Amino acid sequence: MWDIHKPLIQNDRQYNLYKIAEELSGKVKLRATETDQQAAFSQENLYDLKEAGYLSLTLPGQYGGQNLSLYEFVLLQERLAVGDGSVALSIGWHLGIVMELRDEQLWKPETLKWLANEISKQKKLVNRAATERATGSPTRGGIPETRAVPSEGSYLINGRKTFTTMADVLDYFIVSAFIEEEESIGWFIIEKGQDGVDVDYTWDTLGMRGTGSDDLVLTNVKVPVDRLVEIKDPTKKEPALPKGWLLHIPACYLGIAIAARNEALEFAKSYQPNSLTTTISKVPHIQQKIGEMDLELLYARHFMYSIAEKWDKEPENRMALGPELAAVKTIATNAAQHVVDLAMKIAGGRGLSKNANFERYYRDVRAGLHNPPMDDAVIGMLAARAIND
Ligand SMILES: Cc1cc2nc3c(=O)[nH]c(=O)nc-3n(C[C@H](O)[C@H](O)[C@H](O)COP(=O)(O)OP(=O)(O)OC[C@H]3O[C@@H](n4cnc5c(N)ncnc54)[C@H](O)[C@@H]3O)c2cc1C
Repeated sequence: MWDIHKPLIQNDRQYNLYKIAEELSGKVKLRATETDQQAAFSQENLYDLKEAGYLSLTLPGQYGGQNLSLYEFVLLQERLAVGDGSVALSIGWHLGIVMELRDEQLWKPETLKWLANEISKQKKLVNRAATERATGSPTRGGIPETRAVPSEGSYLINGRKTFTTMADVLDYFIVSAFIEEEESIGWFIIEKGQDGVDVDYTWDTLGMRGTGSDDLVLTNVKVPVDRLVEIKDPTKKEPALPKGWLLHIPACYLGIAIAARNEALEFAKSYQPNSLTTTISKVPHIQQKIGEMDLELLYARHFMYSIAEKWDKEPENRMALGPELAAVKTIATNAAQHVVDLAMKIAGGRGLSKNANFERYYRDVRAGLHNPPMDDAVIGMLAARAIND
C-alpha cells in the first residue's frame, strides 16, 4: 500500500525520528482495545515510551533530547496516533509543554533546568491541569475556582481539575489556581504523592478513553513558593505568542483518520462478496469514498505541515501565525471525522463491531471537537482578523 507518510519525510534525521514513532505505534496498537476498555493510560505503553526515549524528544540536546522542531513533532505524533490516538494525545501534552517551556522561557532558567533533568535522567512525566467543571475550557478566559492561599512561606491549594490526562501516571501536575491576595492566576508544580493530592477516577467517556483524563483533587496541598512557576494578571490582555505546539492535536486526529483510511482500503481490496466478481475496491461508489478520504487527508495534512514548517523557518513571524494555527486545528479535526465516517461506510455493518477498530476510531475522532481551540473560537478569530486588521 502507498505509504501516506513518506512524501512528508524531508531528510534522514526526520526518517530516523519517524522510525521511533513507527515502532512505538505498532506496539501501542496491540494494546489499544484493552486501554479503551479500561479507560486508563497503560503502564506498559508508558514503559515503552520511556524506553524509546520518547519523553525527552522535545528537550534541547544538552539534556539528551532531540530538540524536535514543530514539523518533526507533528510528523511523529501523527504516526504514533495511527497506532493509538489516546497515547498520542496524552504524550503530546507532555512533549508540547516541554517544547513551549523550551522555546518561550516562561520559567526561571533554574526551574526549567531542574524539570529538564527530571525528564531526561528520571524519565518523569508532566501535564498541565487547567480545566474545571465551572470554568470549562481555560481558553475561554474563565478564572480558576481552584484557590492558592499564601500560608507561612508556602501556598495552600484547594480545588478540583477535570480532564487531567494521564492523571494516574503523572509525576508532576502543572496546576492553575487563582491567588486572590495577588489578583492573579498562578501555575504551580505539584508532585504526585504529596499530601492532599488525589485522583478521582471519573473518566468514563465515549472516546479517547485510553487518555485516562481523570479528575485531580487537591485538598490543602502545601506548595513551596518556588513551585509557583508562572503568574498572570487576568485583567491584562497582553498579546501572547501563539501556541505552535498545540498542533499535536490536529496531528493526533489525522493519525486516527489515517488508521481508519488504511484499514478501510485493506478491506476494500480484500473483500469480495459473492454478489460480485471482483473485490469491492472496483466498485465506483467505493472508489469515490476512497478518493474522498485521500482528498480530505491531502488537504488537511499539507496545510498542517506547511504551517508547522512556516513556524520553524520564520520565527520572526510567529506572532502573526495564531489564526493559521487555529485554522489547521479546525480543518484537520473536521476532515478527520469525515474520513472516519467514509471509512465506516466502506466497512459497512462490520464497522460497528467491537471486534473491529473502526468503531473506536469513530468514537475517538469525535473528541477532537472538544480540544482547543474550539471551532467557534477559530471562526471568530478569523472573522475578527478580517474585520479589524
Ligand atoms: C480527550 C481530552 C483530553 C483533555 N486533556 C486535558 C488536559 O490534559 N488538561 C486540561 O486542562 N484539559 C484537558 N482537556 C480539556 C479541554 O481542553 C477542554 O477544556 C474541555 O474539553 C472542556 O471544553 P468544552 O468546550 O467542552 O467546555 P466548556 O468550555 O464548558 O463549553 C461547554 C459549552 O459552552 C460553550 N461555551 C463555554 N464558554 C463559552 C464562551 N466563553 N463563549 C462561547 N461559548 C462558550 C462551548 O462552546 C460549549 O458548547 C481535555 C479534553 C479532552 C476531550
